[in-house]
Amino acid sequence: MIETVIVGAGLAGLTLAHRLKSEGQEVRVLEASARTGGSIATDQVDGMTIERGPQACPTTAIAVYDLISALGAAEQVVVAQEAARKRFLLHDRRLEPLPQKFKDVAKSPLLGMRAMGRAMSEPLVRRAPDPGETVYDFIARRFGPAVAERFATAFVAGVYGGDARELEVGAAFEDWVSAERRHGSLVRGMMNKAPHPAHAPRNLFTLKGGMVRLTDALTASVHDTLALNSPVERIEHQGNHFVVHGAQPLKAKKVVITVPPLPASRLLPDLADLAAIPSAPIAGVHLAWPAGTVQEQAGFGWLAAPEERKDVLGTLWVTAGFPGHAPGHVMKRVMLGGTRDPSAVALDDAQLIERARRVLREVEGIQAPPVFAHVARSRIGIPQYVRGHLARMARLKRAHPGLRFLGWGYTGVGVSHCVQAAMHRD
Ligand SMILES: Cc1cc2nc3c(=O)[nH]c(=O)nc-3n(C[C@H](O)[C@H](O)[C@H](O)COP(=O)(O)OP(=O)(O)OC[C@H]3O[C@@H](n4cnc5c(N)ncnc54)[C@H](O)[C@@H]3O)c2cc1C
Repeated sequence: MIETVIVGAGLAGLTLAHRLKSEGQEVRVLEASARTGGSIATDQVDGMTIERGPQACPTTAIAVYDLISALGAAEQVVVAQEAARKRFLLHDRRLEPLPQKFKDVAKSPLLGMRAMGRAMSEPLVRRAPDPGETVYDFIARRFGPAVAERFATAFVAGVYGGDARELEVGAAFEDWVSAERRHGSLVRGMMNKAPHPAHAPRNLFTLKGGMVRLTDALTASVHDTLALNSPVERIEHQGNHFVVHGAQPLKAKKVVITVPPLPASRLLPDLADLAAIPSAPIAGVHLAWPAGTVQEQAGFGWLAAPEERKDVLGTLWVTAGFPGHAPGHVMKRVMLGGTRDPSAVALDDAQLIERARRVLREVEGIQAPPVFAHVARSRIGIPQYVRGHLARMARLKRAHPGLRFLGWGYTGVGVSHCVQAAMHRD
């Protein structure tokens, strides 16, 4: 009998396999498709590096950097240009820089005087949260409704492609809730944050050749545990062990499910409830122009609250951060769809490119036709931790000791969450 079977070889499954293997455990990873990496995928097209999933790791992804180092790939890390620290918000049809420091908030036109005063009083707020509080209500309670309306809605669009009024804050932004619990204030929590470790990049980072190099390096380290083209069809609980049914049945003491909630809901009759976890399909349109024909703006890009625009989530300024992704060009990645417009992924490539061009014309004033266009869709989409997510996961954990749920469907949607949760001994 195998100690642990992992279902799915995305970032979460591969990272867990890497840890268990390095601890000397017997582990098997079953992956449905012909490749590893799941949502992390990079295309090389006409000399351009095109990300289908995450553009880069956030500065806070220290666990991911440590994993890359442990895999011997630290010299492959590419840190974003300094300019990429700046982020913008579409506000009254103009791109306004987001304040980078709390003291800059007062100078920003994004909030009026009254809303600013309310936001500044956050450390004094004593009102306790309601159970199952949404992201919107949490931010409105702590900083006032204007901050929730302008910032939280756009931020949630950027991270989840989702709706701040639907997501459960304790599941979607667990660190905010624990900062409030520990420090009585989010601002005090931020001020008391552990200092950034000296060894880790101080800006966004990726790897030479793109994000797929991370899952490639993991794949190389666990290749002997991996079975590709091996979809798991069903899992059976038999006494103190499981039988995992795929191409051939495998007996395992523990099973870790890392596949998205919808396919996971079909693996055991008791998991049908997972199908209730919604997701937000996303389309990314990369457009590029020869350098000099379009202005390269300094920043990571911009986000739009749904009140500003419903036809776009935001735009990443790819070459401002990573010029090597499109040498001699300015490249942008327009993100469309999400819960505000889930039907966008059903548009054909020409329609999506046309929409992305219209957005950039209206928001950034770009009239020039691009010399390069590429469309990528995530039809499964980003899981949405709507109200009840934590209770559902706790219920499933209690009902199925020996079965673990890991990855962006369950324990955090970012690359950092996937790696941190997989490295954590349960
Ligand atoms: C467009 C987009 C942009 C993103 N941007 C960011 C970002 O900027 N920052 C960030 O931190 N994160 C971002 N992410 C999220 C990040 O990609 C995910 O957190 C991470 O890749 C999820 O990995 P996972 O292993 O949990 O799941 P997945 O990548 O979904 O892997 C699951 C694996 O399970 C396999 N599988 C499915 N069904 C079965 C079955 N029955 N049997 C066996 N195998 C099966 C799948 O083929 C897949 O390989 C983005 C994602 C997308 C799609």
